[in-house]
Amino acid sequence: MENNFDFVIIGTGPAGSTISKFLCEKKFKIALVDRASDKNKGRKSFIFNPYVDKCPKYYSPSFSDQLGGNSALWHKKIYLISKDEITKGKWPLKYSEILKYSKLLANKLGIKHSDLIYPNKKKNTLFKFSQSIRANFSNLYDHFDLRSKYNVKTFKNSSPIKLFHKKNKKISGVEIFNSQERKIIKLNISKALVFCAGGLGNSFLIKNLIKDLGKQSGQFFCDHPHIQILKLNTSTAKNFKKYSKVFIFSDQKSKKNKNKEWNMYMNIKNHFAGIQLTTNLDPTLILGRLYLKTNFFNLLGSPYRFAKNIIKFIIFVVNLLFKVYYKIIDKIGKPGKYSFEFFFSQQKNYSNNLKINKKKDKFGLNKIDINWSIDKRELSIYNKIIHKFINSTKPLKNKKINIKNFEKKVYVGIHPSCANSFGISKKFILDKNLKIKQFKNLYVCGSDVFPSNGFTNPTWTIMTLGTRLFHHLTKKFN
Ligand SMILES: Cc1cc2nc3c(=O)[nH]c(=O)nc-3n(C[C@H](O)[C@H](O)[C@H](O)COP(=O)(O)OP(=O)(O)OC[C@H]3O[C@@H](n4cnc5c(N)ncnc54)[C@H](O)[C@@H]3O)c2cc1C
Repeated sequence: MENNFDFVIIGTGPAGSTISKFLCEKKFKIALVDRASDKNKGRKSFIFNPYVDKCPKYYSPSFSDQLGGNSALWHKKIYLISKDEITKGKWPLKYSEILKYSKLLANKLGIKHSDLIYPNKKKNTLFKFSQSIRANFSNLYDHFDLRSKYNVKTFKNSSPIKLFHKKNKKISGVEIFNSQERKIIKLNISKALVFCAGGLGNSFLIKNLIKDLGKQSGQFFCDHPHIQILKLNTSTAKNFKKYSKVFIFSDQKSKKNKNKEWNMYMNIKNHFAGIQLTTNLDPTLILGRLYLKTNFFNLLGSPYRFAKNIIKFIIFVVNLLFKVYYKIIDKIGKPGKYSFEFFFSQQKNYSNNLKINKKKDKFGLNKIDINWSIDKRELSIYNKIIHKFINSTKPLKNKKINIKNFEKKVYVGIHPSCANSFGISKKFILDKNLKIKQFKNLYVCGSDVFPSNGFTNPTWTIMTLGTRLFHHLTKKFN
């Protein structure tokens, strides 16, 4: 029958696309379901997450509404989670296992694996270093060319609305609703169902579709607060040129290394911060947040939608001018203004969570509210980390910093994680193989499964966990 599949995968982002790519090569029949439309609208097109109702002012839940998920928007910065983060964050895996699947994935994508890690040989140094590259691929769904595979069928504008399972707890099918054609379709599943709906989306689905697990899902939700600190002139900044973002001090980068970046990172016990040199102020970040938070304009009708498009156009122009300005001052050696971007880990905390709301989205599912803040204890640790960095770094000694109103200044909302951590003990809803313990064949992959969030940008680690899950699925179901 037409709608019989081996695997049904919800979400076409990096997690769903990676797993589908591998399964498709093994000739399995796959259904890929995504609530996004198929239009490729590019990196600058993002909206406020459509299944989120309330969230704090300073939290920015970006959503691409394109097949490929947020890899249609991302900065393509990839590096593997460090050994420190795995061990201090109590992951139920050995680093060697993560490394094994990361290498398999890098091999598949033609990436030199050593570019994604940096072994810290020196012990007891204040700073450690990790290495990342700007990947030469963007939208993973397009990159893996899943659209043209004969054994992959994509259901766009669609979301699951009901699961079918027997008493034996084996999922046998899923009902999906196509919001454009207003049509319900049942997909039959012979092997497994995998939720890859993103760091927020997986909890949203669990809460709506598996009601008795709903309360457990979305607890201890974390994200990476990014904040820019200090104002540096060019001569001070040049001391840190090795740790700058790719577009700064371009004269320092050889052609071969032009996509490579180094990050300093440091930790106090299990709290981490990554640190990079960047330009002093990126106006597009502020405008981007403004654009995201003007979502309600859409609901008010066309003149307001027009206002939103004007903001979008301004972002485009400012972004262009900003880049051109820094290219020029870089070329002619004029002083620019720089600062450090700190990106912090976040510890699990009871008051950060995702809660189901009464309002419905266009698929008839209940939206979620995001409760997120930085508690006082964590804030004082961030403060300690920043001061430790400044006081032990000669060119920065005695520089004054001001992190008053920290939460208002942070950029946060693009790395939601830890809402469905996997682990061995009973308190976790996912087992070591990312299976929902309550079911025989329902799996979850995304940053929400991370047991701790560390400081590393999550996507390569998500794709690595996806590669590991693919191996588990083929072993179990072949
Ligand atoms: C501006 C920006 C820059 C970033 N830069 C970087 C970076 O440089 N490096 C890095 O590592 N990470 C970066 N990220 C984060 C990165 O994009 C995410 O980590 C990554 O996309 C997560 O992959 P995923 O597959 O788990 O989820 P997503 O990419 O979020 O994909 C989830 C998919 O599921 C679909 N979906 C959700 N709910 C449903 C539903 N109910 N039914 C059907 N489908 C559903 C969505 O439409 C989406 O296509 C960035 C993110 C943003 C927004």
